[in-house]
Amino acid sequence: MIQKFKESGYEIVDFSDKADIYVINTCTVTSIADKKSRHFLRQAKKLNPESVIVAVGCYVQVARDVLEKIPEIDLCLGTNEKSNIVYYVEEFLRTKNKEIKIDDVFKDPEYSEFGSVTYTDKTRAVIKVQDGCDRFCSYCIIPYARGRVRSRKPESVIKEISQIAKTGIQEVVITGIHVASYGKDFNNEYKLIDLLEEINKIEGIKRIRIRLNRAIINYR
Ligand code: SF4
Repeated sequence: MIQKFKESGYEIVDFSDKADIYVINTCTVTSIADKKSRHFLRQAKKLNPESVIVAVGCYVQVARDVLEKIPEIDLCLGTNEKSNIVYYVEEFLRTKNKEIKIDDVFKDPEYSEFGSVTYTDKTRAVIKVQDGCDRFCSYCIIPYARGRVRSRKPESVIKEISQIAKTGIQEVVITGIHVASYGKDFNNEYKLIDLLEEINKIEGIKRIRIRLNRAIINYR
């Protein structure tokens, strides 16, 4: 999202600075995360009462009824709407109409590409290869916030990593919501190990890590 705003000419400032637009990328993995998301939304409006407050992401996706009652919020965007955030913000700046845009997260059968990313870390890049989870563990809200498993096409992953390898980045961190499910939604036998082996062949990449929530596994 930062990259999309930069490409459209916006300046990114620290959250503690006075800004014209505040985007809070919410989390709903625990009730504490919900509480923190609400706190940051309210805090942003206090930093600049004239600003536009945008709530985005997982908590928005599952808690529309809560967030629509928070008067500080101008725009609520669910998981699928993140990729068009600049469009929605500019629409709001034009119309000043408060909006809640939350698509059905189970509707999209394919991974949606988010566009290219600028890497500020000179040594390591985090590469998202997958979204969603099909396991529906009884205590977990993630499948309802992120939808079912959608895997990013290997060609897209390889292309991105090949490009960043040319800039001198030697380490990639492979991530997603349920990375082990990578490839489950493809109509072939292509799995995470096949992707890792392809990444392993890319010239310049010296280390591959897999981020599984809090655990990190080194591949070589
Ligand atoms: S596997 Fe993990 S992300 Fe998926 S439902 Fe279970 S706890 Fe949630």
